[in-house]
Amino acid sequence: MKITGAKVFVGGPGKNYVTLKILTDQGVYGLGDATLNNRETLPAAYLRDYIIPNLIGMDPRNSEDIWQFLYRGAYFRRGPVAMAAFGAVDMALWDIKGKLAGLPVYQLLGGKSREGAMVYAHATGSDLADLMDSIAHYVAQGYKAVRVQCGIPGMPSASYAVPERKGEGEGKNYITDYAGIRPKIETWDTGRYMRYMPGALMEIRDHFGPDLHILHDVHHRLLPREAAEFAKAVEPVGLYWLEDPTPAEDQEALRLIRQHSTTPIAIGEVFNSIWECNKLIENELIDFIRVAVTYAGGITHARRIVDLAALHHVRTGFHGAPSHSPISMAAQAHLNAWAPNFGIQEYLVLGTPQCDALFPSEHRLASGMMHVSDAPGLGVDFVEREAARYDYTPGSHPVVRLEDGTLWNY
Ligand SMILES: [Mg+2]
Repeated sequence: MKITGAKVFVGGPGKNYVTLKILTDQGVYGLGDATLNNRETLPAAYLRDYIIPNLIGMDPRNSEDIWQFLYRGAYFRRGPVAMAAFGAVDMALWDIKGKLAGLPVYQLLGGKSREGAMVYAHATGSDLADLMDSIAHYVAQGYKAVRVQCGIPGMPSASYAVPERKGEGEGKNYITDYAGIRPKIETWDTGRYMRYMPGALMEIRDHFGPDLHILHDVHHRLLPREAAEFAKAVEPVGLYWLEDPTPAEDQEALRLIRQHSTTPIAIGEVFNSIWECNKLIENELIDFIRVAVTYAGGITHARRIVDLAALHHVRTGFHGAPSHSPISMAAQAHLNAWAPNFGIQEYLVLGTPQCDALFPSEHRLASGMMHVSDAPGLGVDFVEREAARYDYTPGSHPVVRLEDGTLWNY
């Protein structure tokens, strides 16, 4: 069996999804997602210019050898651009493998460990009352877990993932990236955040009671000592997790947080290999690993991370921002169905009619639980005539500065 060709598409409804379609001499094709948010043309070029010419003639069933060929063969290993491109190839090969076997991918991984995988939604508000409305909206739909992000009184501009105007975030996939190459500048004030947010989280707990899983994302904004103080301050809230309390380049910083708090810590959405998280996992400095199957090198590599995490009581919480297409979300749904150490899945409803028309699938969400498709392979298709409607639109994440102009972490 041989790979005979492959195509890359960039575009989609509201997002520049990078979709890879690998074709074979037996008529079976596989789909992968290489979307790297706001840098989408780069993995697309990596695929077109370097990877696809090498794939032609290879046996698509040898997904492990092809992964090693791409990774070791690159010489300049890792990095989100390369790993997203490798991830797309790997997803497509698992899709082909499942279709050849007539089995959903989760069966190739070891079968189902659960009937449904808990997901969390994003609630956001320009102020606390606005956020409460947004949380109530998701609770009413049956969600068991909600990430909560709130405007901070006196903050010079909206804080992370928070709309500037009341009601803008409710029931929508509110995200803070912008069209255009030049980013919007946001202003951050750590003191105001540290003084306000623990109390706001406690009000949310009091209002919604003990059963709701409450998650909060600091989005890399705090220094290690501040993060330790914050994690300690929010202990009475009983968070499901505190996400990215500090940037994870300095991984020893997580030890300081651990020494001062039992609040569960989730990190890893910007990691792109096991080599960014193996020490965090082995030293049990985190509770949830947040890699994405896209830029952590596909199912083959993400599975290695999941297995290492399982040895150290670290559970999964795969990234699920709206920049992940239904193809990588499906790949994660199969891993979530199997992983013995599954925790939770970030999930923003992609289900617009346009998105469903482009990526038809039987994966379904009900009462805050994701139910994986039983169709062979990944269980998502890609309609090329729909894809022809969309173009690439440049976009950017905001850039954050302190009030005096000092550049900070988005
Ligand atoms: Mg996050």
